[in-house]
Amino acid sequence: MQNFMGHEAVIRERRLGSLLTFEGSSPELIRLGDENPAGCCRDNSFNQCGDCSAQRAMLPLAQIRDAALVSHAPLGCSADFPWFNAQNRRGLKIKGMEPRNVQALSSNLRERDIVMGGGARLAEAVHEANRRFSPRAVFVAASCASGIIGDDMEEACATCEAAIGIPVVPVYCEGFKSMVWTTGFDAAYHGIVRRLVRPPARRRSDQINVFNFSNYRAFTPLLAKMGVTPRYFVHQASVDELATMSESAASTHICETLGTYVAAALEQVHGVPELRSPPPFGLLWTDRWLREIGRVTGREEEAERTVVAERARIAPELDAIRARLAGKTVYAFGGASFCHNMLAIAADLGLKIAGMMGYHHDMTFDNPHPEIVSIKNIHGRTGGFGGLAVCNKQPYQLVKLLMEARPDIVMSRHGSLPVNAVKLGIPTFFAGDANVIAGYDGLLNVGRRIVRILGQRNFVRNISSHASFPYTSWWMSEPDTFRFRKAASSCL
Ligand code: SF4
Repeated sequence: MQNFMGHEAVIRERRLGSLLTFEGSSPELIRLGDENPAGCCRDNSFNQCGDCSAQRAMLPLAQIRDAALVSHAPLGCSADFPWFNAQNRRGLKIKGMEPRNVQALSSNLRERDIVMGGGARLAEAVHEANRRFSPRAVFVAASCASGIIGDDMEEACATCEAAIGIPVVPVYCEGFKSMVWTTGFDAAYHGIVRRLVRPPARRRSDQINVFNFSNYRAFTPLLAKMGVTPRYFVHQASVDELATMSESAASTHICETLGTYVAAALEQVHGVPELRSPPPFGLLWTDRWLREIGRVTGREEEAERTVVAERARIAPELDAIRARLAGKTVYAFGGASFCHNMLAIAADLGLKIAGMMGYHHDMTFDNPHPEIVSIKNIHGRTGGFGGLAVCNKQPYQLVKLLMEARPDIVMSRHGSLPVNAVKLGIPTFFAGDANVIAGYDGLLNVGRRIVRILGQRNFVRNISSHASFPYTSWWMSEPDTFRFRKAASSCL
């Protein structure tokens, strides 16, 4: 059981029994989780690429708009800072604020610090961040180097905090610590809830927390019909806004992988309930989500009226889209639960599921609510499906999975892997910002775009005819896509 007020978040492999490799079907994966919720985080003996949980922790923390971030690491661990800048500028613009870069520094650990200890470098960087940015709080993100040399970040941050008079929050997100990089989200939220969120001075029955990436206000007009205001967290939030997360009536998110840790922390520490429904993707899950918000905010009638009115509003166009997509098959890949969310949309558009590849899979979630278990939700929505793979974002495996599934359309959440589908001549839908595909309008948005993409198949066929993969003919004809999976005896 996670102690949300302890020093750090327990890594996902241990806490949620996360998997990095699997091939089978939705009933098989559910059975595996039910029989062995502790999981077995097998890795591959060969990985083409990887990711780091420190980057996932720093991404949201760097975008808290009046805080500063110190990466307590060698300079190379700050390689994602330009990307954080781009995300922050976009997020501020969406919120109607002046775009600007993130307030982030590196402690720039050198060889000598690795031998002698990095405490002095850390203190210097925190004081410099305070001098340059005058922040309301400083987050200090750990790294492989600071973790390996055993720097006492707790003590160093407490000393800095006493000196500069603002919270200095240690975030334990050492890159080597977890094989599941989304552990970094948990580490960031853990630092926020542990050190910044205050006990509620009051409870606002008309506000809910929405944990998301972009702050695009897709939920605002929909929830306004019920008199509810979403508070978008945590990117571009202020330290004061973070402190009052505990006053909202409930928490929800755009993806279980992103948001269930912080939702559970707020529920268990401050009594803010996590919504007991899937997130609002597709028709049926948006209905359930609104009704659940109606239940927790005492607005059941408003929720029912909204569901009926919204369904009637979108019905003519949805019917037309479904007629165009009838008989087409879809393959989705993306972060674990977001794949399930994209498939919920696909199912409501009338697409048949050819398979999916999740970047990892969590056997359980932090709150023991059956309504939030995304694999069971999508299994129930679709009646079950095969071609389900869990693969740690490895292109060499994805190519073969797609060659086998041969779907009419691919849906992807992220921008890096879709090129592999296009090179195979498979039309590809890039979801990008999760907020714009949520709710009833998000469903139509996805449907319109897929219809348009399928009308341009020659475009990808043309690219495919000129493209090649860097893999040998041996690998392309190898029958076992998971050939490099380590033996079960190597489980963590
Ligand atoms: S924290 Fe570790 S894995 Fe992450 S970028 Fe730094 S060295 Fe690499």
